[in-house]
Amino acid sequence: MDGAWVATAGKENVYNPANGEVIAEVPDSGAAVIDQAAACAYAAQKEWALIPAPQRAELLLQVGMIMKERKERLSQLLTLENGKVIEEARGEVQEGIDMAFYMAGEGRRLFGQTTPSELKDKFAMSERCPVGVVGIITPWNFPIAIATWKSFPAIVAGNAVIWKPSSETPLMANELAKIFNEAGLPKGVLNVVYGSGSAVGQAMIEHESIRVISFTGSNETGRKVATECGKQLKKVSLEMGGKNAVIVMEDADIDLAVEGILWSAFGTSGQRCTACSRVIVHKDVRELLEKRLLAEMKTLTIGDGLDAKNKVGPIINQAGLDKILKYMEIGKEEGAKLAAGGKQLTIENYEKGFYFEPTLFTDVTIDMRIAQEEIFGPVVSLIEVKDLEEAIVVNNKVKYGLSSSIFTQNVNRVFQAQRDLDTGIVYVNAGTTGAEIHLPFGGTKGTGNGHRDSGVQALDVFTEWKAVYVDY
Ligand code: GLU
Repeated sequence: MDGAWVATAGKENVYNPANGEVIAEVPDSGAAVIDQAAACAYAAQKEWALIPAPQRAELLLQVGMIMKERKERLSQLLTLENGKVIEEARGEVQEGIDMAFYMAGEGRRLFGQTTPSELKDKFAMSERCPVGVVGIITPWNFPIAIATWKSFPAIVAGNAVIWKPSSETPLMANELAKIFNEAGLPKGVLNVVYGSGSAVGQAMIEHESIRVISFTGSNETGRKVATECGKQLKKVSLEMGGKNAVIVMEDADIDLAVEGILWSAFGTSGQRCTACSRVIVHKDVRELLEKRLLAEMKTLTIGDGLDAKNKVGPIINQAGLDKILKYMEIGKEEGAKLAAGGKQLTIENYEKGFYFEPTLFTDVTIDMRIAQEEIFGPVVSLIEVKDLEEAIVVNNKVKYGLSSSIFTQNVNRVFQAQRDLDTGIVYVNAGTTGAEIHLPFGGTKGTGNGHRDSGVQALDVFTEWKAVYVDY
C-alpha cells in the first residue's frame, strides 16, 4: 500500500491445490486498513490524473515488458497456487501481457466527441474523465488475467485502485504489485489489500471514497455486492458466472465438436465462468457424439498441473470439491444417468490434492438442477433436442447468459444462433472458452449487470463522461 508493504496482525496460509501443502503465508490486511488505503489512493489519484494519458499508458507498456520477461516464472507460480495446468497458466499470463499492450494503446485513444452546438459561437464537446478511487475484487480462477482486465483500464484512465485479490491466490497479486512498482507507478496509485470478502471486501464497498466496485465472482456474492453498492448509489460492475452450453447440430463436424467440448468443459478443471457445463445435441448425432466424447475423456491425464503431461489439474480446495460432490448426488437423485466420472480421485504422492474425475451426465432434462446451476467443476450435462429452435430455448432457459457455442456447417443456422442466443459471447465451431481481450467480456441476465471487462468497453466502468460548452 502507498508503494510499500505494510505490516498486519493477521496471517493466512496459501495452499498448493495439487498436494494440499502450505506454500506461503500472506497477511490479512483486516477491514481497518481500507481507511488508510482509501486516503493514500485519494491523494495519489489527484496527481496521477494530471499526467497525460499517453504517458500513463507508457507505464503499462513497461508493465507488459516486465511480465513478458518473467512469463515463465509467473506461469509456474500461477500453477503452484491455483493448480491449472502449466500450458493454461502460460496462456493466462500471456492474456495479461496482451492486456497491458492493448490498454496502453487505449491511453492514446481516450476519445471524447465534438458535436455541433445548437447555438451560435458555442463549442460543444464531451470527454472521458477518471472516476477517482476504484475498488476491484478478483477471483482465484484467473488470478492474473482478470486482475489485468480491471486494473489496467482503471489505471490508464487516471484512477487509483484498491485491489482485493482472492485469499486463495494472493501470490499472483504480490507479483503484479511488484511489477507495477518496478515499472515506476507512483506510490498510492495501486494498493493491494488482503483478506476475506466479508471483512475487507465489505469495508471497500462501504467506503465513501471508493466510487466504483468491479467484481468477478459467484452470483450469490455478486448480488450482495450489488445490494450494498445500491444503498450508496455506488457504480458497480459485476461478472457472476455462467451455465454455458455447446450446441451440436446434426451437420456438425463431430471431431471438432468433441475437441471444443473437451477443452472448454475440462480445461481449468471446469473452473471457468465460461466453462461448458451443458452439451445440447441434436437427436440424430447424440449417440455418435456421446461415444466419441466418452472415448476422448478417457485419454485426459489428471494430476499436478506442473507436470506437462497432465491435461486436467486439481480443484482449488476442499470446499470446491464438496460442492461438486454435492451435485453428483443431486444429479443422480434427479434421474440423470452418470455416463462417466463422478468421483473424487486420489493420486499417488498427491493424496492431499483435490482431484475430481471428468464427469458426464446424460439423459439430462432442462429443469434439472445440474442443468441450471453453476457447479464450477469438470462436470457436463448432455441434453438431447430435436432442432435448432429447441436448442436455443434450452440454451436460454437458465438464469445466466455468459457464453454459448454452436457447431454447424450451415451458415443460416450460424446467423440465427448469433441472433437468438441470449449470452454476451457466442462462438461458432469452437468451445465456450478462450475469450480475447480486444472484445467485451461479460454477459446477460444473472451473469452481469450490463458492464464489460476487457475490450474498449472496460473503460466505461472506470470513466465518467463530462459535457463541456465553450462560448466564444
Ligand atoms: N478468459 C476466460 C475464458 O474466456 C474466462 C475467465 C473466467 O472464467 O472468468 O475462458
